[in-house]
Amino acid sequence: MNHTILFYIIIAILLIDTLWGWLLEELNRRSWAEKVPERLADVYPQEKFEKQKQYRKVNHRFGKISSTFSLVVLLVFLWFNGFAVVDDLVMKLTDHWLWRPLFFFAAIGFASFLIGLPFSVYQTFVIEEKFGFNKTTPKVFVLDQLKGLLLGAVIGGLLLALVVWFYHVAGEWFWLYAWGGLSLFMIFFSKFYTTLILPLFNKQTPLEEGELRTAIENMSKRAGFTLDNVYVMDGSKRSTKANAFFSGFGKNKRIVLFDTLINDLETNEIVAVLAHEIGHFRLKHIIWSTVLSVLQTGLTLFLLGWFVNEPALSQALGVEEPVFHIGLIGFGILYSPVSGILGLGMTIFSRKNEYQADAFAGEHANPEALQSALKKISANALSNPTPHPWFVFFNYSHPPLLKRLEALDDVKR
Ligand SMILES: [Zn+2]
Repeated sequence: MNHTILFYIIIAILLIDTLWGWLLEELNRRSWAEKVPERLADVYPQEKFEKQKQYRKVNHRFGKISSTFSLVVLLVFLWFNGFAVVDDLVMKLTDHWLWRPLFFFAAIGFASFLIGLPFSVYQTFVIEEKFGFNKTTPKVFVLDQLKGLLLGAVIGGLLLALVVWFYHVAGEWFWLYAWGGLSLFMIFFSKFYTTLILPLFNKQTPLEEGELRTAIENMSKRAGFTLDNVYVMDGSKRSTKANAFFSGFGKNKRIVLFDTLINDLETNEIVAVLAHEIGHFRLKHIIWSTVLSVLQTGLTLFLLGWFVNEPALSQALGVEEPVFHIGLIGFGILYSPVSGILGLGMTIFSRKNEYQADAFAGEHANPEALQSALKKISANALSNPTPHPWFVFFNYSHPPLLKRLEALDDVKR
């Protein structure tokens, strides 16, 4: 294939992707409600709803500015053969088969971190601060960034080194080895996430004995779930927004409650939220999403193995002598429509699972309590009560609040 045509295909994909995002945003903006939906009137007093409107306006504008900015930066970078320039600089240091791609991605990764930094500062300390969500101190923020960078360098560096090494030793079958390696890593990561990674950022303490713990234990017995680990995490260190999640498997499985959730909700509501999380486990959603991401990774690597040696891929990005890491970047952009479609399948699957977990919670805990919990969590986070159906279809991993409330009405009957 001609590399000039490939270059313009790459540009077209980036443009279409951003325009598509804007179209969905615009549709969503037009479906904003001026008045509180009746069902949410009790959690959204008029004053709070006005605040919600302001919040979505500010976020809408911010999203437009940041996506325009990243598009422009990327286009300018591509136009001036930025990847080839960086690769040339790296070549002055080393042309070793392993160090060259590692340094290359370290440079690209660090540059994109620096470009994104002002945006995340603004998001945290201006937007979230203004609406009273932010609890992150500058010190916590700086430490978070440093730990994130270090973790990205260690984990990203190891995985990249593994893939490059397989490519170096295994030739055309490298994708198969890489698939095995990455799948093992994904399984290891999800098993040990709460014991190895999360402690770097948050403190978790076992939920203490008392009314809440007893209520949770009774519910989990009814739900046929052996509950060993319920932890409370200091989410309030960063934000007032509340959450709960389930993580790991085998002995490492653990339910983590944000302390903010305990502050905002009544006991029976917390129990209902946890019943929903247990539902994800009992209904095997966690295993299935792991299987699907392993399959997805396999497909991606298979296609990568097919295309990465195509010289036009490197040449389209301005590098004459085809090389793996430049081919990887070109592939990444060309593949993004495919991964978008696969991602869409995953969000559809995820929304279906959310309904099932809600129904499970309705059966094993109190459906009304879950409804009021969902309403409170959503209103406290100033979530948009009336998203556009298309925006939901393409972006939402969870069904919108009103739909979940309706589905729970059916469970009650
Ligand atoms: Zn869920």
